[in-house]
Formats: sequence, structure tokens, C-alpha cells
Amino acid sequence: MKLVKTIKEVREEVKQWKREGKTIGFVPTMGYLHDGHMSLVDKSVSQNDRTVVSVFVNPTQFGPGEDLESYPRDIEHDAKLCEEHGAALVFNPEPEEMYDEMFCTYVEMSGLTEELCAKTRPTHFRGVCTVVSKLFNIVTPDRAYFGEKDAQQLAVIRRMVKDLSMDIEIVGCPIVREEDGLAKSSRNTYLNEKERAAATVLSRSLRIGKRLVECGERSCGAVEAAIRAEVEREPLAKVDYVKIVDAETMKPVKKIDRPVLVAEAVYIGKTRLIDNFSFTEEKQ
Ligand code: AMP
Repeated sequence: MKLVKTIKEVREEVKQWKREGKTIGFVPTMGYLHDGHMSLVDKSVSQNDRTVVSVFVNPTQFGPGEDLESYPRDIEHDAKLCEEHGAALVFNPEPEEMYDEMFCTYVEMSGLTEELCAKTRPTHFRGVCTVVSKLFNIVTPDRAYFGEKDAQQLAVIRRMVKDLSMDIEIVGCPIVREEDGLAKSSRNTYLNEKERAAATVLSRSLRIGKRLVECGERSCGAVEAAIRAEVEREPLAKVDYVKIVDAETMKPVKKIDRPVLVAEAVYIGKTRLIDNFSFTEEKQ
């Protein structure tokens, strides 16, 4: 496995693979890799001849006052994991390699990027779409792998690929959780012991919501209120949002009468965590 830091090196490697007729899978990440990321890598390795993993803490998707500087980084650990899981190439650019001082072209989306995380992080998806477009142009993969943990991001990327006619298959992968239900996340490392225990409220509250929906509740207000009430019982937790949206458009809905995403963002102390589940009514 190779670890490279320049766009040129990625292109040289990819060109050679394409000449050999190899298929390429791509897993974009911000690093500090855990089992959630590695499930994407494993899927890619199983479906493609070569897998590229990018490890890049992308400055343009962080807003002012967010955790860009403190975001955890450990490229040696990440590269070792990627090698063990069968990746062929890790791309770990410096910010200057991706954004020179004249950089001024962004990929902006409307609609899907107005609700949920976009309310608290208004420039986040512009940064995500921009960096993912750049990475797609650099790696030119056949398939790219994204986690359902970031469900709005997955919907946004699917839309962007359609809208901009990118010839890349987007593969969504299920959420990988800790034993107590907490969705794995690089940001979980911010939590102290008490906060870590409190963070189980995210998955627990969603399980309550899911049970309600599975028992036939179709009012979004009622389901959202039940989830919110469970989160509010936890003193260290503060709700950012609890929202049910159309699974494709990410627009709020009042009734669960189509495929929906039930999503929440919760502050545990200063750490903002997200979780979700999808629901589609089975046809009788
Ligand atoms: P990040 O490094 O947080 O930007 O995540 C990189 C990719 O890994 C994204 O597509 C995430 O959705 C995915 N991912 C992160 N955590 C998990 C998880 N617990 N389960 C599944 N996918 C995940």
C-alpha cells in the first residue's frame, strides 16, 4: 500500500490501474479511522480491484468556532489500518495541496442543504460538495462509499452526482455502533467518562422513536416529541434538532407517508453528535 500526499502521485497511480483495466473504489474520510470507516473500506475492497482512501480534515466544511484545529489526527495509525484492510492507496494531502491561495470555486447546492445539520452549520455542505467533487476528479473512481451515519451528506452526494452527471456509483453503508448503541465517530474521543455514558441517549431516544413508528404512529410531531423528551431527560444533553424529513429531498414532513429519515443532533457537553434511522413502510 502507498501513502501519498500530492494530487500528481494519485493521478499517476490511478492512470496505471486504468491502463490495466482495474476498477477503483474510493472512501473519502477525515481520518482517525475506526470500525465505521473500515466497514466502508471493507465493502470497497470486496467490490473493486483497487481501493483509495482519502484522509483529509477539510477546512472548507468547518464553520468559524468549530473543531477544525482540535479534530483528532493520526495518519500512521490510519495508514496501518488501511493497509491491513487491503486498501491500495491512502491520499493524505495538506490543505495547501487542495486549496491554493487563489482558490475561489465552490459547489453549492440548494434544497437538500437547508434543513437538519445545515441550520447549525450553514456552510458545511458547500465545503463537503466542493471537496468531494475535487476528490472525485482526482481519484476518478467507479464507486464511492459513504456511511448512513451522515445520512444528509449521503443524500446530498447522491443528488450532486446526479445533478452534475458524474459517472460514479454511490454506495451507502449501514451505521456501525459501539456495543451500547452509540454510533462510532471520531468525535466520540472528545467525550469524558460521564459524557460518554450520557451519549447513549442518542441511540436510545431513536430506538423509542423507531418503536413508535413500527407500532403505527404516523404523526411526525408525536414521534419527534417522544425522541426529544427522552434526550431532555439526560442532564448533560442538549438537543440541536430532532427532525423527520423526506428521505430523498430532506424536506420536513408532517406525516410518515413515504420513506423518511428520522435524524437528530445533540450536544453532549460541548461535543455535537448526530444519529438517525430511516423508515420505509413495507407494502402489504
Ligand atoms: P468522517 O471521517 O467522519 O468524515 O467519515 C467518513 C465516512 O465514514 C463518511 O461517509 C461517514 O458517514 C462514514 N462513517 C463515519 N462513522 C461511521 C459509522 N459509525 N458507521 C458507518 N459509517 C461511518
